[in-house]
Amino acid sequence: MCKPKHRVMCPDCRRQKMLFDTQKEAERFIEYNGDKINDGGRLKLRVYYCPSCCGYHITSKPYKEHYDKQTEELMDKYKKSPKTLFDKLMEKNFKTLKEVNRYLAAQDAREEEKEEALAGYKKYKGIR
Ligand SMILES: [Zn+2]
Repeated sequence: MCKPKHRVMCPDCRRQKMLFDTQKEAERFIEYNGDKINDGGRLKLRVYYCPSCCGYHITSKPYKEHYDKQTEELMDKYKKSPKTLFDKLMEKNFKTLKEVNRYLAAQDAREEEKEEALAGYKKYKGIR
């Protein structure tokens, strides 16, 4: 019998879920307890990674493509830009707006991104 480490209140699905540290643990749990949970094999259990809990859950629900896609996109975005232009601006501690503009102009980023960063910067610094 492979017992789950603990149950958590998953912020993502808003209910109690078993949380496993590794995919293997979760898979082993299904292997040992699958029959019981499956109730005669009607449900197909699968393991999925939950970014909210930073661990693995088991579900009998069909693959949530939409959700996974959303998460993927989010992770992708995060990986591509670990820091936003705004974050960078805040780190630089510019003294004048001219310096900010010069810095932004030299950045390899989309125009919208630059504008967004500048707008955020101005707002933060109280510049109109
Ligand atoms: Zn979760």
